[in-house]
Amino acid sequence: MRTLPDCSTVVRLLAARKEDALLRRRLKRRAHAPALIDAGVAGVIRGLSITSKPDVRISDQRARTMLARFGELGITRYPMLDLRFRCHELRGNLTSSDAMYVVLAEASDLPLLTDDAKIAKASGHRARVLHHPRERCGDEDETRGSACASAVLIRDNGGVSLYRDEGVVLRTQKLGEADRIVTLLTRRTGLVRAVGKGVRRTKSRFGARLEPFSHVDLQLYTGRTLDVITQAETLRAYGESIVDDYSRYTAATAMLETAEKVVAVENDPQLRQFLLLIGALRTLGEGTHDSRLVLDAYLLRSLAVAGYAPALQECARCGSRGDHRSFAVHAGGSVCSVCRPHGATHPAAQTLQLMLALLGGDWPTADASEDRHRNECSGLVAAYLQWHLENGIRSLRLVERS
Ligand SMILES: [Zn+2]
Repeated sequence: MRTLPDCSTVVRLLAARKEDALLRRRLKRRAHAPALIDAGVAGVIRGLSITSKPDVRISDQRARTMLARFGELGITRYPMLDLRFRCHELRGNLTSSDAMYVVLAEASDLPLLTDDAKIAKASGHRARVLHHPRERCGDEDETRGSACASAVLIRDNGGVSLYRDEGVVLRTQKLGEADRIVTLLTRRTGLVRAVGKGVRRTKSRFGARLEPFSHVDLQLYTGRTLDVITQAETLRAYGESIVDDYSRYTAATAMLETAEKVVAVENDPQLRQFLLLIGALRTLGEGTHDSRLVLDAYLLRSLAVAGYAPALQECARCGSRGDHRSFAVHAGGSVCSVCRPHGATHPAAQTLQLMLALLGGDWPTADASEDRHRNECSGLVAAYLQWHLENGIRSLRLVERS
């Protein structure tokens, strides 16, 4: 989830003796702030370094550690000049620096993370403010996001934010004694990591519905670090027709993993990726096509939606049209004899035709293909996917809208 932490939130993370892995991950590369956060954080650290109160004062070593950690957070900073008049409008409710955080949250529609009650209570703005009071989330003890999952979301008038969505369960992880962290690709919210409370207890109402491959209707509320699932109803249990067949199971597992890696960023709606995934799971469950073909079609289209369709009818380097016979993963697909880079492979013409058919949804052509071409196609698709997931997609998906 992309967020806008205020100075107090960042300092709390920097000061935590035990690393708060979730908060850290949440802030890393996904955090945005007014450029003045540099002065704010430096000011707080200076204050802690020179205070006369011995129970609060930090050593020079500690201050340097905090400053080093601050540099690693990679927060995207924004100049605030264009928003100065809006900040000025809030002069009766907020200090000028607090107003900059609130106004940037308003302008970017990112939730402002703060543990400052004054900011949380201020009126006159339209920003979403996630308030996590210190007394409920002690900075030294907090190691898991779930400890704060009940934090209050204050939206204008102070209500807790509930929302509904539908999604496919991609992955689950144990959390504490009875809970799970459930990763879902949802229709409207995109990738969501949410806590299922008590779902590992046998009497849990919805624990069994929150298993990988399930397509569920959900109700959640927005927590500080992770959202919390309060209801789940099964829409389609794709798992039933998948888990008993090894080839379907392995194909579906690869799809779920790819979906998470291709989407990569939480709370960024990806409707086409969602529709591709449920379409592929349904096709796989129906068993009308070879599982490997269904998987390769999904991988190719998923990459295409992400902006990485391989060149198949033109040279990936110079763009000259034609059915070129060389294929270079790192060049972006098929390449002509002039551009052919070192390490290019020479797949059969039928293999490239099969890739084209899978990308375009031409099932008659794909179903008529021979095993050796399917094998070669799978190898190329896997190499192509691997190359892009390792090198391209993560950073590109993090290119932010300002
Ligand atoms: Zn070329």
